[in-house]
Amino acid sequence: MFQSDMMDKQSQKRVLIINPPSGLYRRDDRCQSRVEDQTVQVVFAPIDLAYLGAMARKAGAMVRIVDYPALGQGLHAIVRDLHEFSPHYLVLNTTTATVRDDLHVCELAKESNPGIVTIGKGEYLTIFSEEVLGQNPLLDVILLGEPEYTLYDIIAGKSLKDVAGILCRSSVDSELPLVFQTTERTFIDNLDTLPFPARDLLDNNLYRSPETGKRLTVIYANRGCPGRCIFCPAGHLSHYRLRLRSPQNIVAEIEECVYHHDIQEFLFHGDTLTMNKRWVIELCQLICEKGLRIHWGCNSRVDTIDDERAEWMKRAGCWVVAFGVESGVQELLQKMKKTTTLEQAREAMRICRRHGLLTHAFYVIGLPWETRNTLKQTFKFARELDTDFFDINIAYPLPGTEFYDIAVREGLLQAEQLHQGSYAHGVVRTYTLSAEDLTRWRKRALLRLSLRPKYILRTLRHAGSLPTVLNYLKAAWRRLRHLLQSDRTA
Ligand code: SF4
Repeated sequence: MFQSDMMDKQSQKRVLIINPPSGLYRRDDRCQSRVEDQTVQVVFAPIDLAYLGAMARKAGAMVRIVDYPALGQGLHAIVRDLHEFSPHYLVLNTTTATVRDDLHVCELAKESNPGIVTIGKGEYLTIFSEEVLGQNPLLDVILLGEPEYTLYDIIAGKSLKDVAGILCRSSVDSELPLVFQTTERTFIDNLDTLPFPARDLLDNNLYRSPETGKRLTVIYANRGCPGRCIFCPAGHLSHYRLRLRSPQNIVAEIEECVYHHDIQEFLFHGDTLTMNKRWVIELCQLICEKGLRIHWGCNSRVDTIDDERAEWMKRAGCWVVAFGVESGVQELLQKMKKTTTLEQAREAMRICRRHGLLTHAFYVIGLPWETRNTLKQTFKFARELDTDFFDINIAYPLPGTEFYDIAVREGLLQAEQLHQGSYAHGVVRTYTLSAEDLTRWRKRALLRLSLRPKYILRTLRHAGSLPTVLNYLKAAWRRLRHLLQSDRTA
């Protein structure tokens, strides 16, 4: 290496972007569930981090992304990486349940290099930014709002007071007040301007389809949701606005995955892929035109699917569609502001079946109005819909949601319990049921739904090939063991 190259390398900023080793979680703002609490225990590629990686690289930095939970590595591995890579910036992803452990990493970072700038992101940090910065003197910056261009500005060396969308400690820039917040970061209007996520910085072998065992990645085709469901932060975090990438831009990213990363399995991870009919059909048509033989799943809403959309989705390689059915009680759907009906849920499942698409229903229990009777009705409805996959999640009071506000206001949540809950272990009681009742009911319902002989036979028949049958059996065993073990500890 020439001396000038070495000089360049030495002067280049180094950025370490991580999922801290605080457990396997889905670390989206909308879904912060423990992986083991889900029926389909899949570890998704951290594409949010890969976007940040791409932006930091665009700003001229040398970047490493490490997903410690997916690697099964702990704090000692972080200490090793901090020492070896010696980053100037550490970017941490957090969830509400793990935030305390996540932020502990700042301590290790400052011990390794007191000058390192520690940067946190996550829904909890956004909502309680001032409190978090006040209580964690070793955290320097919180990214508020959409983080990609904010990180770009920081790494590119813009003065922090001019970087929109941060809450920052002044020790990073001593001429400024102790803690200061900059102007609001506006949303990215044209999502096509973002570079593709830096998948070359991920270990793509870590993220595999639980069905086929092949590499699986996530595509953010759209961002935001106009929905106002009281338990979900997606609406307010996106200011109730749906933004779409162009089908051409999405397909170019898929081609990069197929031809450069050997990935054929995808999850379209937007809050709902099917909301804009013309756009989703155009996307599917383009996938077909390009001759891409890919296999994918997506999220939808029961009121945004019809025969035409389902037909094109199937043609373009879709095999499973996930719906937030939420409840078998119409009155509860209204109270949670889901704005869908039970009949729409029935019809959505009929449409998918007509077109050979498997269905995955998500139910949410434990909102304040839940009773024994409504739980029974939801269970009955789940049996009636008889979807191919299902999850029953206990409503988790994510700060910033209307549910969180109600739970605090009505004394249904003890503040100190917030970080102890999960989608499997309730921390909020309803007006008539305790959190423990909900935890027990969920386990019983999941066991009874999963162990129906007809359901087991149908699932194995769908699997088709022997390797997939074996993967299904492995997944079912993991799931069953987890449910039975947690049954004993409940
Ligand atoms: S429809 Fe409701 S649950 Fe689904 S992403 Fe939008 S706000 Fe969240």
